[in-house]
Amino acid sequence: MNAATSGKRPALRLVFLGPPGAGKGTQAQILAERLDARQISTGDILRKHVADGTDLGAKAKAFMEAGALVPDQLIIAMIESEIGTLDRFILDGFPRTVPQAEALDALLERLGKPLSAVFLFEADRPTLVRRLTARWTNPRNGRTYNTELNPPKVAGIDDDDGGALVQRPDDTAEIVGNRLTTYDAQTAPLVDFYAKSGRLTRIDALQSIDRVSDALCTALGIRDGAPA
Ligand code: AMP
Repeated sequence: MNAATSGKRPALRLVFLGPPGAGKGTQAQILAERLDARQISTGDILRKHVADGTDLGAKAKAFMEAGALVPDQLIIAMIESEIGTLDRFILDGFPRTVPQAEALDALLERLGKPLSAVFLFEADRPTLVRRLTARWTNPRNGRTYNTELNPPKVAGIDDDDGGALVQRPDDTAEIVGNRLTTYDAQTAPLVDFYAKSGRLTRIDALQSIDRVSDALCTALGIRDGAPA
């Protein structure tokens, strides 16, 4: 009996890799809903810790405000508790360094649950800067809008919950520059890390939201919302 005939959903353990502004969060949210998987956004989780004033939030805040990375050991401990026993998840914004990727491999190997796929979202720097500086975020759930590409129906208001949208403090031009430099220095080496082990699938993130979504589903062998 396979997963389809047993009624048990197949495991789905994905990593979304790519620079800030490439659309990882938008696509993770869409795919997670479509496939009933958990979106694990380390950025969203950290922002909640900062808002709630936890110890971790206090430690992470200055790094986040500067557009730098939060130290690996804090992030790795956080992700281990987030993954827990989950079998269907999309890691959005993790791993971001080689030690994080190695720790993830070690964790999943211990659990006997290897990654299903790693998607690299590719976009050029001017596009990323344009997208990030035009981004408005719902701080309650992490949903994002872009004033040019997918504006909310009413400016500054979330379509679904009717609450206010905000511009993230790290989406200013100066901090966006730092975040992209941080990506090139510390996260880009992961492209080789995953390519060498044959786990990397490249996605053209310059396409429309719908087309990127379709590309991900095609790569995963998904038709009409259900794994083929
Ligand atoms: P994001 O929402 O993914 O753009 O993340 C916002 C900020 O949170 C980043 O600029 C980092 O300061 C921090 N952060 C998020 N994920 C990680 C990670 N995996 N490792 C280190 N820092 C992270």
